[in-house]
Amino acid sequence: MQKNNNWHKETAMIHEGYNSKEHQGSLAVPLYQTATYVFDSAEQGERRFAGEESGNIYSRLGNPTVGVLEERIARMEEGSAGLAFTSGMAAVSAVLVHVTKANDHVLCSRGIYGCTFGLLKIMQEKYSITHDLISMATEEEIEKAVKPETVCIYVETPINPTMELVDLQAVVNVAKRHGLKVIVDNTFCSPYIQTPLTFGVDFVLHSATKYLNGHGDVIAGLLVGKDQEEIATIRSTVQKDYGGVISPFDAWLLLRGIKTLPVRMDRHSANAKILFDYLKKQPKVEEVFYPFDDRHSQYEIAKKQMKMGGGLISFTIKGGKKEAQQLLNKLELVKLAVSLGDAETLMQHPATMTHSGIPKAEREKMGVTDSLLRLSVGLEHMDDVIADLEQALHSI
Ligand SMILES: *Cc1c(COP(=O)(O)O)cnc(C)c1O
Repeated sequence: MQKNNNWHKETAMIHEGYNSKEHQGSLAVPLYQTATYVFDSAEQGERRFAGEESGNIYSRLGNPTVGVLEERIARMEEGSAGLAFTSGMAAVSAVLVHVTKANDHVLCSRGIYGCTFGLLKIMQEKYSITHDLISMATEEEIEKAVKPETVCIYVETPINPTMELVDLQAVVNVAKRHGLKVIVDNTFCSPYIQTPLTFGVDFVLHSATKYLNGHGDVIAGLLVGKDQEEIATIRSTVQKDYGGVISPFDAWLLLRGIKTLPVRMDRHSANAKILFDYLKKQPKVEEVFYPFDDRHSQYEIAKKQMKMGGGLISFTIKGGKKEAQQLLNKLELVKLAVSLGDAETLMQHPATMTHSGIPKAEREKMGVTDSLLRLSVGLEHMDDVIADLEQALHSI
């Protein structure tokens, strides 16, 4: 296994956790597309099951291709160990099941991914695990929302799709005072832009479906922990027994995608800035939200915890649902699709798509109004994307 703690992130994303000398000189990480492994002897099988000898048993419990991915994401997030799951939601479920028990309370940032909200509702109905969604604008506000039964703080930043930020340092300060675990969904930034563990967070997770893979052809999730033993516990309990492990082929595709993450994020961010400047000037656009906007009320937080702005922009258009849908129906080059982080520029309407499961009053309180659109800025030439937006905006 190749490891070098002095490597820069860009280097680690290409080399961490893999030594070609151990794999017949193969430059690319080999795809171990196997369900099970052959033991040398009955005694070896016994030792492996007893945990006395490391080695492969069965691919739900470990796979060499997946192992490289787990080493790599742990290093990228500056954590001690990682786990790979079949989807982002499997990673969210595993860590929330791990940190909670019946009657506990989870404190969440006001905007969380729709299915994470769905999972919290299931946990509430079945196990009386309650939650509160709060804006987390200040340390005092977070402090006030902590209850005796609170066990963890669950945060997304930037918040989907409104681009509000949560100050990670403030969250960690409160968590330390109360002995709470902090979990951050880092999907929007990727570890190239933001590394929450360096602020003292306990767990970072990703929908690797998005920027980490970057090519729109895999559903996968990743989880990284500050504490190696805790990740080992999740591996041997929730991950093993709930069973949401990644397939070797998806892990292989992810390793391929991750190699180019830094160059993609640089370009996504540069392109987003171009579209941000364009959209701000459009008479049919009301407001544009982007974290690296020096007029964004939380720009100071953005600079403190993010290396650059990333590839997501949201904006409101003048009018409501009708105008938003008219704009979407006119798009030609820009694809009308949910998901994000791909080479293709994608646009969606959160109120009727990703956030449609959230009751209207709650959704609007989060800032997800009928006139809000979310844009995942791709890697095309932005002149072509602007030409498409231009004709679509003119049609409404
Ligand atoms: C997509 C997404 C998820 C869920 O990930 P899947 O891979 O679709 O299961 C969770 N959080 C955020 C912020 C996402 O964008």
